[in-house]
Amino acid sequence: MQLKEYSVRIEVKTPFNIASGEADGYIHKRTVRLKGKPYIPGSTIKGKVRSNFYKLVLPDHKEGPCECPLCSIFGGQGYNPSRIYIDDLIMEESSENREPVFIRISSAIDRYKRTAKHEALFITEVVKPAVFIGTIKVYFDEETLKYKQDLELAIKMIDSVGNGGSRGYGRVKVYLEEVT
Ligand SMILES: [Zn+2]
Repeated sequence: MQLKEYSVRIEVKTPFNIASGEADGYIHKRTVRLKGKPYIPGSTIKGKVRSNFYKLVLPDHKEGPCECPLCSIFGGQGYNPSRIYIDDLIMEESSENREPVFIRISSAIDRYKRTAKHEALFITEVVKPAVFIGTIKVYFDEETLKYKQDLELAIKMIDSVGNGGSRGYGRVKVYLEEVT
C-alpha cells in the first residue's frame, strides 16, 4: 500500500445549501454545520468523486463482492473497506470574518400544477461564496495506482455542491495538490 495525501481547496462561487434535514423555527431547510460553522461533509465529496470516477473509468462493476477499481478504491460489499478518506471541508479562515449565511425565501411552487401557493413560502438557509479546505488520503496498491490520474481528475471534475446545482447553486472550482 502506498499512501498519497492531497490538500484540497474548494472555491464555492455561488450560494449553496447542503440540507441538514433539520427544520427549526421558520427555516425549512438549514445547511449542515460543524461546531456552528457551515462546512462541506467529506461524504458529500466522496459521493461525487465516486460517481465521476465511475463515468471516467467505466469499470466492469458487478453487484455483490467485486474487485473492480471502483470497489477497490471506494469500498464495496463483503470485507472491502474504502481506501479513500476525505475530510470534512471547513471554511478557510479568511472567509470567516463575516456572517457566512443568508436566508433565501422562495414561494413553494406546486411543480405539477405550476401554480404558486402564495400562502406557502419556503425558507432556506444558504451559505455565501467562500473557500473550503481539507485533505484527501488514498491508499493505493499496485492495481489501483494505475487509476491515480483518473481519481485526481474525478476530484477536479466536481462542479457543484449541495442542492440545485442545475439551477446554478453551489458552483465550485476544485484545486488539488499532492502533498506526499
Ligand atoms: Zn465493483
